[in-house]
This record gives sequence, structure tokens and C-alpha cells, in this order.
Amino acid sequence: MTFNAYATKHARAALEPFQYEPEPLRPGDVEIVISHCGICHSDVHLADGDWGDVFPLVPGHEIVGTVVAGPTDRIGQRVGVGWQRSSCGSCDYCRTGDEVLCPGNQATCMGHFGGFADRIRVDGRFAIAIPEALPSDTAAPLLCGGVTVYTPLAAYAGPGSRVGVIGIGGLGHLALQLARAMGCEVTAFSRSADKEADARAFGAHHFHTGTPARGSLDLILNTAHAVPDMEAFLGGLRPRGVFSQLGAAPGPLQVPSMLLIGGSRTVTGSAIGSPAAIRSMLGLAATHAVQARIEAAPMHACNEALDRTRKNLARYRLVLAN
Ligand code: NAP
Ligand code: ZN
Repeated sequence: MTFNAYATKHARAALEPFQYEPEPLRPGDVEIVISHCGICHSDVHLADGDWGDVFPLVPGHEIVGTVVAGPTDRIGQRVGVGWQRSSCGSCDYCRTGDEVLCPGNQATCMGHFGGFADRIRVDGRFAIAIPEALPSDTAAPLLCGGVTVYTPLAAYAGPGSRVGVIGIGGLGHLALQLARAMGCEVTAFSRSADKEADARAFGAHHFHTGTPARGSLDLILNTAHAVPDMEAFLGGLRPRGVFSQLGAAPGPLQVPSMLLIGGSRTVTGSAIGSPAAIRSMLGLAATHAVQARIEAAPMHACNEALDRTRKNLARYRLVLAN
């Protein structure tokens, strides 16, 4: 059995057709025929060599498809797979539903071949059933982008919370929708003034190309892969407010100590989300019609599609279809 994929052998090299023999299915594993795969900016970081020598690389970790092999009760199920493809299943983190933090966690497209392909095999615990109400193409970006912003929202926000979202890209536009669905008061912070109408349509009550008013927000999600003005954004938090870093910024965050101390504020980071978080995020999305705004492209156009994400041209997520 051979799987057909697109791979790059070096940083910034083009993706080319690539065949590989999959690992044997272990008990509990599933084989998925991929219908759609979203392009996350992490795929750009990987392909550009930002995260080291990860080659040969088959990108893609926002996968939706149908189970064709594995446990009999999974056959025919429509499932999604995000950044994580497996974990040890027995450590403290796995036993308490925090599989993301498992020391034995495995990434879908780092050390394994990802979703720019016709098929994939993963641990069945990380292939999550997609609710019927969600179309496959617009659901795909929820598997990484959606759960990544949902996790800190679920931890730190609730109805009435004042939530700021920096960077209105793949993660950011889902954060606006999910925060709005949770009953938050939502503010978008973007470098792109032309995104205002879209941001408001996604659920933002307010839109700024600058920085927040002092003491105005309870939670800030930084989805931009850039170092923000921490003086302005930390100062924009109310006492006990939380700044959650999600984007892979290239340099250190400079945190003014008196802003941390004075308002007992928190600066934290957050990585993707556990299978349980993916399930509850998908449930919220199904109930509130949260969908990625996508640009569709055929799988064979993966180079052009990846480049649109690299150049911040995607509105708001490229999704490849087989
Ligand atoms: P994306 O679709 O490319 O969107 C990123 C947005 O950030 C852009 O649309 C832009 O928004 C803003 N931005 C881009 N360059 C910027 C710069 N130099 N300065 C300020 N703002 C900038 O990317 P994405 O897929 O949402 O991913 C964003 C980041 O999150 C990436 O670094 C990715 O690796 C990371 N990520 C982290 C996790 C996690 O578990 N923590 C999971 C997935 C992705 P505006 O035009 O509105 O300014
Ligand atoms: Zn991702």
C-alpha cells in the first residue's frame, strides 16, 4: 500500500509529489481517506525551516476525511485530525485529559507525514468525529486553528468577558467567532485596516489598527507570529487580566515587570488542545454556526496555496481538497 502526498526535501523548496509506505496499523489506529486539509501558518514555519530540520516534510494538520480501516465501529466515520496524532496514553497528562502535554506526544506532520496527501494513519484517539452540521471544508481549520484559540478562551473567558484578539488570520478569525459564540465582548486588533468589515462580520464588536485603551480587556489572545508592543497590550489588561501568546513569535516578549505586579496580570502561552477540547469546540461550532472563511484549492495547487498563507493573502484560511 502506497500513500500519495506532497513533500518538500529542504527549507523553502517546492512541494513535489511524494509516495511513501505507511506504518502498519496498530490496534486502535485508523486509516483516513483525506477529503480536505487546511493550511495553518505552522505549515509555513515548518516548510521555511523556522523550526529546524524537519525534512522530508509532508505538511498539513487540519485534516478531515473518512475512516476506511481500523476498529470496525470507526469505519465510515467522518473525522478530523489536528496537530497531534498520538500520545503515550498512560502518563499523568494523558490520564487527566491533557494529552497535549504528554512527553510522548506525536505531531501529525513533524516526524510523521501529514495531510497534504490522499490518506493518513493516526492513533484513533486523535481522529475526532465531526458533527453532522459542520461541512468538511470549513470544519478542517477548526482542527488546529479553532482548538488553539478555543483552549485559552475556555480557560480564561466566559459570558461578558472583554476579549481582544491580535492578528486576524486563520486563528484570529476563528477566535472572533468562538469568543462571540461564548458571549464575550470582542475586540479585533489588526495591522490590516481592510479587514474591519470582515472582523465585524466574524463577531468583533470593536476593531482597532492600534493598541487597546488602558485597563480595558480581561483576556488578550496574540495569534500573530510577531512580537507585540507588550507595554501597550499588557497595559490594556484589567487587573488579573491574562495575555495568552499563541503565535510563534520569532523573538522574546519584553514583559514590563511593574505592569505584571501592579495589576496581578498573567502572561501565558497555550498549545493546541486535547481531544476533549476539540470535541467541545466542535460542539460549540456546530451550535453557533462557527465556520472558517475559506479559499478552496485543489491538493495539487499546494505550493501556490502555501505561498498565499506565507504572504498573509489568505482570506482567511486556504483549504486543499482532494
Ligand atoms: P495566519 O493565517 O498567517 O494569520 C496570522 C495573522 O497575524 C495575519 O493574518 C496578520 O493579521 C498577523 N500578522 C502576520 N504577520 C504579522 C507581523 N509581522 N506583525 C503583526 N501581525 C502579523 O497564521 P495562523 O495560521 O493564524 O497562525 C498564526 C501563528 O500561530 C503562527 O505562528 C502559527 O505557527 C501559530 N500557531 C500556534 C498554535 C499553538 O498551538 N499555539 C497553533 C496553530 C498555529 P492582520 O493582517 O490582522 O494583522
Ligand atoms: Zn496549526
